[in-house]
Amino acid sequence: MLNNLVPSATMTDEELESYRDRFAARLSQTVPGRKELVVSAAEGCTLRAADGKVYLDMTSGIAVANVGHTRREVVEAVQAQMTRYAHVNVYGRFVVPEQVEIAERLVRAVGGELDTVYLTSSGAESTECALKLARKHTGRPKFVAMERAYHGRTFGALSVSWREQWRTPFEPLLPEVEFVPFDDLEAAAAAIDERTAAVIVEPIQGEGGIRVPSDGFLPGLRELCDRAGALLICDEVQGGMGRAGAWFSHQLWDVKPDIVTCAKAVGGGLPLGAVLARADVFATFLEPALSHLTTMGGNPVACAAGIAAFDVIEREGLVARSAELGDYLRDRLDSVRGQFPDLLTEIRGRGLWCAFEVSVPAQRVAVAMQERGVLVGSVLNSEGTVRVTPPLVITPAEIDVFVGVLRAVLRDIAEEAA
Ligand code: PMP
Repeated sequence: MLNNLVPSATMTDEELESYRDRFAARLSQTVPGRKELVVSAAEGCTLRAADGKVYLDMTSGIAVANVGHTRREVVEAVQAQMTRYAHVNVYGRFVVPEQVEIAERLVRAVGGELDTVYLTSSGAESTECALKLARKHTGRPKFVAMERAYHGRTFGALSVSWREQWRTPFEPLLPEVEFVPFDDLEAAAAAIDERTAAVIVEPIQGEGGIRVPSDGFLPGLRELCDRAGALLICDEVQGGMGRAGAWFSHQLWDVKPDIVTCAKAVGGGLPLGAVLARADVFATFLEPALSHLTTMGGNPVACAAGIAAFDVIEREGLVARSAELGDYLRDRLDSVRGQFPDLLTEIRGRGLWCAFEVSVPAQRVAVAMQERGVLVGSVLNSEGTVRVTPPLVITPAEIDVFVGVLRAVLRDIAEEAA
C-alpha cells in the first residue's frame, strides 16, 4: 500500500497537537467534537495519517475518489493543465476545450436526449441550477421532494432537503415545496399537480441511508410528471460516475429524467459538478441573456482531472466492476449479519454504494473501525446507518480486510453487551 507515494512526513506529537488545536481554533466547525486524524497522504483505497497510521478508506471522501486517491492519470492531467492555464474564462465568453471534452463524456454517459451541459463546482450548485431551470422553463412555482432527501445546503437546495431541524432555523426558504415519502407513488400522485415545476429525487437516496426504491417507483414518477407537465430532476451527485453499478443510478431503471445533476466524483477529486438537460430546456437561460452564471464552474484544471478520471473508469470497466464487487461486498456483509443478526440488521445498496443498519449508534461502529484502521461513514438522514462507498478500484482482498475488521468490532460490541 502507498508504494508510489512520495514518502509523507510523519509529524511529532507536538506538531500533531498543534494542528489539532489550530484546526479547532481557526476552522469554522459544523461537526462537533475534536478531530483526531491529521491527514498526510492518500493513494488508491489507502489514507495515511500524519502520525504514521494507515487506513483502508471505505468512504472515498463520500463518493468522490471513485478512481482512487491520487490516481496517476489524474495527477498528470492536473499537472499538465496547470502549466497551460488554470482559469481564464469570462462568464463563458471563450471556448475552453477541456469543458467541451468533459461535457461530451457526460452526455455520452447519460445517454438519450440530455445533450446539453452546465458546469458547476459542487453538488449544491448543481441543485440550484436545476431548480432555477425547472422554474423558468415551466413558469411554475412548486417543487415536490422526498422525505430523507439531501440536495445540498444552499438556500434552494436546503428548501428541497428533508430534515426539518436543518431547515427551520433558516426560514423563510423557497415557498411551495411539498415532501412526500420516498417510494410512495400514491403520495407523489397526490402532490404533483399543474403548479408543479419539478419533482426532485435521488434515484437511490444517499444521505437517506442508501435506500433503493421498488422497481416501479421511478418509472411511476416519470409518468406522473408527464401527466402534470412537470419536469423530473434526478440528483446523481452521490450516485453518479459508476457508484451504483451504472454510470448514473437512474439507468438501473428504464427512466429518462428531464434534468440530471451531478458533482462529487465528476472532477476526479477536484471541485466539479454538472447539470444535464435538453438544449430546449437550457434555452430558457438565454432569455434574458446571462440568467445563470458562475465564475469557477467548469474550472479547466477540474475538467482536466475529470476527463482523466472518466477515461480511467471507461478503460478499466469500473462501472461493471462496481456492480460486481458491490454484489461481493453485500454477500460478505450478509455472512456477518448471519453471525450477528441482532447487531447488523439490514443491508442495502447497489454497486459499491452500500449501507447497513446497526442496532447501536452508527458512530460507535465507525469510531471502533477507525481505531482498527478502517474508515467508514454514517449518513445525515438515517440514524443507525453505516455507509460504505469505497473507491471503485478496491480489490476483493481489501473488501475482505474491511469485513474482517467489521466482524471484530461487532464481536467486541456483542461481548461488551453480554
Ligand atoms: N445531492 C446529493 C445527493 C448529495 O449526496 C450531496 C452531498 N452529500 C449534495 C447534493 C450536495 O453536494 P455538495 O456537498 O457538493 O454541495
